[in-house]
Amino acid sequence: MDSVVTKIIDGFCKKNGIALSDEAICDFDKLCALLLEFNAHTNLTAIKDEEGVAIKHFADSLAALSFDLIPENSKVIDIGCGAGFPGLPLAHARRDISVTFLDSTAKKLKFTEKACNELGIKANFLPVRAEEVSSDKKYREGFDIAVSRAVASLPVLLELSLPFVKVGGTFIAYKATGAAEELEMSKNAVPMLGAKYVKTLEVDLPEGIDGETLHHSLLVFKKVKNTPAQFPRRYAQMVKKPL
Ligand code: SAM
Repeated sequence: MDSVVTKIIDGFCKKNGIALSDEAICDFDKLCALLLEFNAHTNLTAIKDEEGVAIKHFADSLAALSFDLIPENSKVIDIGCGAGFPGLPLAHARRDISVTFLDSTAKKLKFTEKACNELGIKANFLPVRAEEVSSDKKYREGFDIAVSRAVASLPVLLELSLPFVKVGGTFIAYKATGAAEELEMSKNAVPMLGAKYVKTLEVDLPEGIDGETLHHSLLVFKKVKNTPAQFPRRYAQMVKKPL
């Protein structure tokens, strides 16, 4: 375990109490190579160096595992997963959970599927817009946990995501900056969609070679009652008139 990627992941997991075997940590090397190789011909991520991928994609995604947020055998959905973040590192580290990857951009989801195959992860893939399937009985209130990163502002994200979460389940929004302000903007949306704000968890990402440490947040919401049937609205309306 002496590559840039494995050193970063190993250090981050040890510091944050995330149990990961040496073999699983080494697989992040494979995943990084695959991502950068695919990214050379298909635009998946603006991060193009191993250190950046390890810190900003892998460690950031794994952060939820340092808090006791995802119960054993949970059914998880990653909304707007892109190239599989945060769901792919979570599914790799936690083989007990089943992850559904949802994204409207088929080429990104294709990469996620390829990466899952390479790592031997069984998962489901939905190449659709979230608001187009969340009223479908197959998916509505069908997941214990929803996760999402860098998809929309929090009021819009809550409307896109909470319909998928079972009553008693959890929605985890990964936010890089401005979590408190976004939460303030979501004061109406949270109860209207049947949820309760639980807490904000702060995450220190590993220090980069430039000495910079990024501080990210996980916003945690509990679903306390069913989301009313009129939600989600059409995307344009969600954006134009956030709840
Ligand atoms: N979550 C990934 C990450 O953090 O690396 C990808 C973030 S990328 C900036 C935003 C992604 O959200 C894009 O892949 C886009 O296709 C997807 N997306 C945006 N709105 C969506 C919607 N309504 N339904 C499904 N996917 C959506």
